Amino acid sequence: MNETATRVYAEIDLDAVRRNVRALRERAPRAQVMAVVKADAYGHGAIPCARAALDAGAAWLGTATPDEALALRAAGIDAPVMCWLWTPGGPWREAIEAGIDVSVSGMWALEEVRAAARAAGRPARVQLKADTGLGRNGCQPADWAELVGAAVAAQAEGTVHVTGVWSHFACADEPGHPSIGLQLAAFREMLAHAEKEGVEPEVRHIANSPATLTLPESHFDLVRCGLAVYGVSPAPEIGTPAQLGLRPAMTLKASVALVKAVPAGHGVSYGHHHVTAAESHLALIPAGYADGIPRHASGRGPVLVGGKTRTVAGRVAMDQFVVDLGSDQVREGDEAVIFGPGDRGEPTAEDWAQAAGTIAYEIVTRIGGRVPRVYRNG
Ligand SMILES: *Cc1c(COP(=O)(O)O)cnc(C)c1O
Repeated sequence: MNETATRVYAEIDLDAVRRNVRALRERAPRAQVMAVVKADAYGHGAIPCARAALDAGAAWLGTATPDEALALRAAGIDAPVMCWLWTPGGPWREAIEAGIDVSVSGMWALEEVRAAARAAGRPARVQLKADTGLGRNGCQPADWAELVGAAVAAQAEGTVHVTGVWSHFACADEPGHPSIGLQLAAFREMLAHAEKEGVEPEVRHIANSPATLTLPESHFDLVRCGLAVYGVSPAPEIGTPAQLGLRPAMTLKASVALVKAVPAGHGVSYGHHHVTAAESHLALIPAGYADGIPRHASGRGPVLVGGKTRTVAGRVAMDQFVVDLGSDQVREGDEAVIFGPGDRGEPTAEDWAQAAGTIAYEIVTRIGGRVPRVYRNG
């Protein structure tokens, strides 16, 4: 691919992915690392990132949907894989046949797993998910005894092998939040009940990236890291990527599509929310909300063009936005860096999150399918 002729592209530094996985292994020396590659590895490309993470010593891969997990197997990846977001009628049998660990949060799912395991003629690898306080997926403490009892019975009949017990934090990105200790206590209690009933999990896990980085007592046997694998900080309060020993893997670049002089008082982009203060040069950046540039960052998002950080002038449109260079000048084809690691003066995903009133997770994950990924250091 001729990158200089490319409208917009995301450079993915696979060496950064490997370094981040190694840094996370050092943070959690007694636990295994699961690299979470859901949502196309948070927009970075699931297959190349999964391979890089495994190269660097990640022991597991995690996905939300079964399709994401099956795509890893279809690419020839045979490492342990777990997926956790199931709906009735999901591809249980395919997952069982592919040796994928499936998460079960309720009785309906356990019943579907048992039927699929019978059809497949082999036991399903099942991880039981406890709702220790998140209030999202997972089994409530009041329903836990029934689910564990049914899973142990399914294990005895040979349809299920319970490989894990796990949970997820609500507020790990707010260190010191009182829910964290309560969730850990609930997890220990639900785990103890399962073990007393005869479950012998290979892995017990609750930590996501922020817990891995800030809360060693949450590491148990395995830490599930998504965002940190891609070198992005889970929250400004936790630290910058550099402070956390992480390196952002994605750099989003565009090629300036048009530069023109306009008179003072010229409206810019839909709604004319920006008006030039003086005779100005406008540079057209050919990336818009269809590419994942948040429209909420209209008038606020930063971009490095012509050696300076500029601000999106007016609205972000579907395919393009404009920057007002004032009296500065750039040329068509010059590089515009929308975000990157930040050490060459470019804005970061965290800067865009702040400009758009969101979290950095959403900035990288929503970079659209229309944006080619260019892999470095594969
Ligand atoms: C997405 C996800 C993770 C990874 O979270 P990060 O904060 O990106 O590390 C871990 N566990 C579950 C259940 C998830 O949905």
